Amino acid sequence: MKTEYDVIVVGGGPAGIPAAVQAARLGAATLLIEKTGQLGGTTTTGGVNYPGLFHAWTRPIVGGIAWELVERVTRETGSTLPDFSRQRQRPHHTEHVLVDRFVYAMICDEVVLESGAQCLFHAMPTGVREDARAKTVRVACKEGVREFGAKVVIDATGDANLASIAGYPVRVRQTLQPGTMVCTLAGYDVGSLDLEQLRVNADAEVAAGRLSYTDFSWDSTGFSPQIIKQSGRNANHVRGIDARTSEGKTRMDIEGRRSLLRLYRFLRTQPGFENLRFDYVAPECGVRETVTIDGEVEVTAHDYQSGRVWDDAVCYSFYPIDLHSCEGTGLQKRYLEEGTVATIPRRAMLPKGSANFVVAGRSICSDREANSALRVQASCMAMGQAAGAMAALAVRRDQSVSDVPITEIRKTLKAHGTVVPGVEQERAVIR
Ligand SMILES: Cc1cc2nc3c(=O)[nH]c(=O)nc-3n(C[C@H](O)[C@H](O)[C@H](O)COP(=O)(O)OP(=O)(O)OC[C@H]3O[C@@H](n4cnc5c(N)ncnc54)[C@H](O)[C@@H]3O)c2cc1C
Repeated sequence: MKTEYDVIVVGGGPAGIPAAVQAARLGAATLLIEKTGQLGGTTTTGGVNYPGLFHAWTRPIVGGIAWELVERVTRETGSTLPDFSRQRQRPHHTEHVLVDRFVYAMICDEVVLESGAQCLFHAMPTGVREDARAKTVRVACKEGVREFGAKVVIDATGDANLASIAGYPVRVRQTLQPGTMVCTLAGYDVGSLDLEQLRVNADAEVAAGRLSYTDFSWDSTGFSPQIIKQSGRNANHVRGIDARTSEGKTRMDIEGRRSLLRLYRFLRTQPGFENLRFDYVAPECGVRETVTIDGEVEVTAHDYQSGRVWDDAVCYSFYPIDLHSCEGTGLQKRYLEEGTVATIPRRAMLPKGSANFVVAGRSICSDREANSALRVQASCMAMGQAAGAMAALAVRRDQSVSDVPITEIRKTLKAHGTVVPGVEQERAVIR
């Protein structure tokens, strides 16, 4: 394995995969560093295998490598895509694309390796030395600490880990949205359950401190059989843990499994659950929110909801404002006005005062509400591809990422199949 690269991407999730693939397809020698043993991030390791949203108001808004991944896994598994041609008032649930999370992880390996990018799994950065022209990333590997050089680095960790390690300030939230330990429950028949008796028994267990209402659902105020009715999936809430550090992530993963174990032990004593089993438990708890970088600009809820077209917009993003309550009182959701689509500016992806340091995915500079929408997977994938393009162009042109003309980035992204603001349409309101 080489030690010198043009571009190093840290984090192989929705943002990191297209970043590495795009950089490599543009000829940059690219290394993708990932802390787990598989690609996909929250889609695979977090078990949230329904990326969205690739379309808005019936039109594609995220294409390129993101859509290529969707098409490849869909073709491979013979599954069907939702019908995007029907206008829906509230499209977000019905237009997620369900992917087989195991096959998806395999396809991600294939696409990344085909691009020419190299992968280094089971590795995490411990330090970054940098000047404007060169970076050295120190990486904890199984065999010890190694150093890799690059001209541009991309932080796609979801937690701005690389930016923090490099010393760039991050914005820490006062309160954090809960995580979820995704699972699949099986071995019972919902139709034959006595849900009223289950409620009475669950209330008693919660009162005795052996169970939490959020083991069953997103609501901490009372019993809801959400996790039972939907056979697991994205139903429990793990609250009050900052998961951006190893210590925090450890607590969150243990608490997520502890929650499922409480549920399992309780349900196994209830009529109808004698054969209860887990068909799937995500290897890691899914994280909704940690920190964002302090970028050159911040995407606010107003920018997002008004469909602001930034002068340096590099991709679209579309989702309702979707805040999961920290107190366990469900969801705060605000839909975008019909026809409105948000855009993501390059400057929100650049830590203040940085050079050739790009952030893509959930941790770009954004306020809480905007972040609750732009964090979705298709948006992160689009940001990732944009990050890969700007990094590779910076290397090719021997310029700083912030100096690469935005027209050049957009032209390149369009040539690689993405839907680019300022190219397809001048305004993000696409009535
Ligand atoms: C329960 C839940 C439900 C959700 N529902 C949906 C939904 O329905 N549809 C949707 O589109 N989105 C959904 N989301 C949001 C979405 O999944 C995430 O916001 C999105 O995956 C973020 O992408 P990312 O690439 O920024 O980060 P991540 O998905 O977190 O990927 C980061 C990658 O970097 C790796 N990594 C992290 N730190 C390091 C490090 N220090 N060194 C090396 N590697 C590192 C991780 O292992 C991971 O592979 C949901 C999220 C959760 C938690």
